Amino acid sequence: MGIAGQIAMRDQSQSIPATMLAAVYRGVNDVRLETVPVPEIGAGELLLRVHTCGVCGTDLKKIASGSHSAPRIFGHETSGVVAAVGDGVRKFEPGDRVVVFHHIPCRQCYYCRHKTFAQCATYKRVGCTAGFEPSGGGFAEYVRVMDWIVEHGTVHIPHGISFEQACFVEPVNTCMKGMEALRLQPAETVLVMGQGPIGIILSVLARRAGATVITSDLYPERLRITKSLGFDRLIDASQNDAVQAVRERTEGRGADAVILAVGSDRLIRPAMDAARPGGRVLLFAQTQRGEVVVDPAAICVDEKSLVGSYSASVDLQDESVRFVMNREVDLERLISHRFPLRESARALELAAHPQPASMKVVIQPGMAWV
Ligand SMILES: [Zn+2]
Ligand SMILES: [Zn+2]
Repeated sequence: MGIAGQIAMRDQSQSIPATMLAAVYRGVNDVRLETVPVPEIGAGELLLRVHTCGVCGTDLKKIASGSHSAPRIFGHETSGVVAAVGDGVRKFEPGDRVVVFHHIPCRQCYYCRHKTFAQCATYKRVGCTAGFEPSGGGFAEYVRVMDWIVEHGTVHIPHGISFEQACFVEPVNTCMKGMEALRLQPAETVLVMGQGPIGIILSVLARRAGATVITSDLYPERLRITKSLGFDRLIDASQNDAVQAVRERTEGRGADAVILAVGSDRLIRPAMDAARPGGRVLLFAQTQRGEVVVDPAAICVDEKSLVGSYSASVDLQDESVRFVMNREVDLERLISHRFPLRESARALELAAHPQPASMKVVIQPGMAWV
């Protein structure tokens, strides 16, 4: 950080402490509450005081699998208040309520020109950190937001919209990207397997695209929430064979499209069986590498396609912001558990072992604000 940046930051820093609490990933299934330095910011950057950060399935997989080196501070569905801005930042000032994306692509490389943003090298660089190897940082009191994220991945939260609603911008974006991959046509029938928060968002987007939506989940508690959002074609997968039930509702064909929103490879086969010949299956939660058995004739003879989608699309940023900030859906309702930062370990534990009544889990450093 340049001298100018240091001065700029010091000017605003009367109320910014030198240290903060953070949930630090120290190794497989080992996340500890620690006191760490508040990150310093440089020119073009901003310091965000975190109010709410959603716990995402990808955080949980990184923590449980040890796929990433330790130490790190995870958390990337982050909303809060600008605490300080570095030199040259014009779009934001201290006190602004914002939500930040942690990945933004360059828009110029081969992958960006071909709209596969998640494969862009710049995109893969994480632009938000609370210390250590940049990893999002939302599970901490303060996050340093780097310049390209300030410029292209930081969004004001309008008046009357809560930090909780706003923290859904990134997950909604990833769901919109998945829907694009699925190329859903109006009047098609889609089965959404899994009605956790992501499955519900995908269901809402499918309905918005004009599709007839059938949903399934093992937990009746979740289906009750789905129902309350106006969905009436529900399959209780604890009592019924979802494949059979979908065929019965589609003149024996199967669904035009199937979205798998459960992170279990065992459901890939039933998802393909539930799709009609020529239908598509979107893998949305299969984020771990491995091997599965697939019937090759389902792809060749039955012409079913398997498509995947991962992470967010910068092209859908405005649309996802509009969807969330216009409250097209009351996303706060999908939050079942709110934990103070001090109880991050409990929050992660619950999110990693969903209960019938648990939906979206959020960590809220802002709970301690006075
Ligand atoms: Zn996420
Ligand atoms: Zn790029």
